[in-house]
Amino acid sequence: MSAPILPGATLGMFGGGQLGRMFALAALRMGYRVSVFAPEESHPCGEVASRVHRADYDDLDAVRAFAQTCDVLTIEFENIPSATLEAAAEWAPVRPAGALLHTTQNRAREKQTLRSLGIPVAPFHLVESAEDLGAIAQEARFPGVLKSCAWGYDGKGQRRVESAADLEAAFSELGQRPTVLEEFIDFQCEISVVGARGLDGQVALFEPSLNHHRHHILDVSLSPAPLPEAVLSDACNMARQILTQLEVVGVLCIEFFVQRDGSLLVNELAPRPHNSGHLTIDAHACCQFEQQVRAICGLPLGSTERKVPAAAMANLLGDLWQGGEPNWAAALQDPGVHLHLYGKGQARAGRKMGHLVVTDSSVQGAERRVLAARDSLAAAKGVR
Ligand code: AMP
Repeated sequence: MSAPILPGATLGMFGGGQLGRMFALAALRMGYRVSVFAPEESHPCGEVASRVHRADYDDLDAVRAFAQTCDVLTIEFENIPSATLEAAAEWAPVRPAGALLHTTQNRAREKQTLRSLGIPVAPFHLVESAEDLGAIAQEARFPGVLKSCAWGYDGKGQRRVESAADLEAAFSELGQRPTVLEEFIDFQCEISVVGARGLDGQVALFEPSLNHHRHHILDVSLSPAPLPEAVLSDACNMARQILTQLEVVGVLCIEFFVQRDGSLLVNELAPRPHNSGHLTIDAHACCQFEQQVRAICGLPLGSTERKVPAAAMANLLGDLWQGGEPNWAAALQDPGVHLHLYGKGQARAGRKMGHLVVTDSSVQGAERRVLAARDSLAAAKGVR
């Protein structure tokens, strides 16, 4: 096995969003340098990174020049083109590997891979072209959800399809590109497991969190998920199997639907830290970002133990800025509130601007306090 990449080395990050920023904060604390590659003029990661390279992902000369200055490369955003990762890998290891990203960048490939591992997923049909629609309309069960195979996240590129008669219109609305038609799952709730796998095959999992979504975007995460032990251990077993069989080196989040009978379906994989794991920064011995640093550097993984009985995270979307700057002082009236802001200049509706975390002796208490803190942001807004 190759020697670990030690503090002082330069960690390269493709993507400049908040996940890159929180990775950089963890890496800098550990004594690494972080160099970021992103096409945007300014971004959340740029404010904290040691160096910023600005170029398009398909400028492969720029990608190679960047990779030459890094000891290892990682991603904070899974839709980095394969050619970019291949060019980078000529100069430094890319972790997780481009092959894993190739799988997770496409819903059909991801579902087929999971199915081949024996992992349950929602029943689905692949729609490659309009010619497939007739047969699928006959075979599929409705209602369903039609999802673009590529570039889907936070419910983008999705249409609910009530009946076979709606299928053609939904396919047209999604641009007639390859899609999967998934059966609509009347689930009890959604959970996720963030896990890491090291270069030596060691796996460490954070316990599952319970996730509430609003308009398809994560709204609140709770840890521990108040669900029967059998459900939680099933989720952990599947997560361990996926990390191991896909030979992940890095962090991977597995999102699940918990059905009414307690059985699980995997909804989606994200080959990076995840919004539902942000509470690990304040609540766990080693957070998901430190774990990403350790995994990609070939170091032993950290402890995923929770330091407190329970934690809750509430996202702060750009909508909260409507009518003025949120009232930060009001939210921080509760001394246990942790405020995380990503340094984004423009607060657009639906844009993830930051999050709040509260730890407490019970998950109900943590949830109540984090929601109260978020509600208080709207009270008596300050002036920008
Ligand atoms: P996704 O982008 O696939 O993670 O979807 C975003 C959210 O839409 C999920 O977290 C669910 O809340 C909802 N959703 C997606 N697929 C389905 C489905 N097949 N049945 C019911 N709800 C779904």
